[in-house]
Amino acid sequence: MIQTRRRADAFRTLALMLLLSSVPLPAAAERIALVGGTLIDGFGSTPLADSVVLVDGERIAAVGTQATLPVPAGYRVVSTEGMSVLPGLWDMHVHLMINGHADYGYWDRTYPPRLRGEIMPASALQLLKAGVTSARDLGGPLEESIAVRDAIRAGELPGPTLYVSGPFLQKAPYPGTEQFRWGVDGAADARAKVRRLAKAGVDVIKLIDQDQMQWDELAALVDEAHRHELPVIAHAHRPEEIRLALKAGVDGLEHTGLSTAPEYPPDVIAAIRERTADMSKGPLFWTPTIEGLFNYEYVRDHPEMLDNDSWHEGLQPDTIADIRQSFAHPERLGYFGITPLRRPTLKTKFAQLRGSGVVLLIGTDSGIPMKFHSQSTWNELDVWVRELGVSPMDTIRAATWWPAVAMGVEDAYGTVSPGKYADIVAVKGDVLRYVNLLQDVDLVVKHGRVVVGGD
Ligand SMILES: [Zn+2]
Repeated sequence: MIQTRRRADAFRTLALMLLLSSVPLPAAAERIALVGGTLIDGFGSTPLADSVVLVDGERIAAVGTQATLPVPAGYRVVSTEGMSVLPGLWDMHVHLMINGHADYGYWDRTYPPRLRGEIMPASALQLLKAGVTSARDLGGPLEESIAVRDAIRAGELPGPTLYVSGPFLQKAPYPGTEQFRWGVDGAADARAKVRRLAKAGVDVIKLIDQDQMQWDELAALVDEAHRHELPVIAHAHRPEEIRLALKAGVDGLEHTGLSTAPEYPPDVIAAIRERTADMSKGPLFWTPTIEGLFNYEYVRDHPEMLDNDSWHEGLQPDTIADIRQSFAHPERLGYFGITPLRRPTLKTKFAQLRGSGVVLLIGTDSGIPMKFHSQSTWNELDVWVRELGVSPMDTIRAATWWPAVAMGVEDAYGTVSPGKYADIVAVKGDVLRYVNLLQDVDLVVKHGRVVVGGD
């Protein structure tokens, strides 16, 4: 049995290598000059027309204009004429272990052996090609999450710089999900689980159903995470989850929750305001992951977009066929049953959060049914601008500068400025007028390597 499994693993590795050999691995870092486009540098100020960005190896060497910064000898010029140039996007809530399949129970029974070799690398590749150069993965099996993150870091797999949580921590895992959901039984166990995750090298702790925990379990969990300098990110689907998360001192909250209720109750908003008013604690981050809820009915009624084959990239033909058949009838999916009743409440809830002083971040839940890594992130930006009244500049900042701050890496990421990693995207046209141009980026540079376009 073990022998057979090993042989199957070896075969999968070989199949993956063959698969990846057809995917161009990024060229070696070089000296490149991005010349001519309008630069939105991520700091929020007036864009810089006729910009020049010099990239030396992995880092940005200089930023100026064609009038002020001549391109030195030895730089390969990549024209960005007619384009918007901006920092590589972040997606603060992705699930690499899922690819849009509509039946979680079936997926969790069937695909674990393929996660490391096929599913998670495909998700990462699709994100990168969509212009997402950094992503936070909130919930996955521990070994696989760390392995994929580290393989990307080592340049062995194409993908965004990943920040991973590994398994969700919760009171009790749902049956059949134990490999990526860990239960917590008592305060000592909560500390032990966090220590195990910290030792394995996760970047963040993901908390869910914290309203089902004992208070001493929750308090111990957050305290232990902070002792290891790990931020704690919690689900915010129920009022009591939010109250307890704030009381325990979590660093960020996820989703636009409360089901079909018309708004967040006054005491919850008061608690959020009390927290955001406390300057010594820094910002309270909130990732509303709202586009999937907003767009479900559109996708149901316009399923052509499900035929966009960008989500096939990196997946085996049988996986693609399996995912495709799972949403043959988008209107029948139980997962989205109540979504049409939630949608009319979203604008009010989003405005309440925004008005209570949280720092909102772009994140998508990509990987959930019919939500593909190749197409989710730009849709979140689009909904913020088109439906929710956020300015394109603020929306872009929520996908660049603020995520870098939230992960404590703003010295190295989040803006196009000298000294930072050269994570840059460019797209023809003006994204400050039409943010949905980001659905098809023309140039993606990650750590100084051109991964899309650039010739
Ligand atoms: Zn999620």
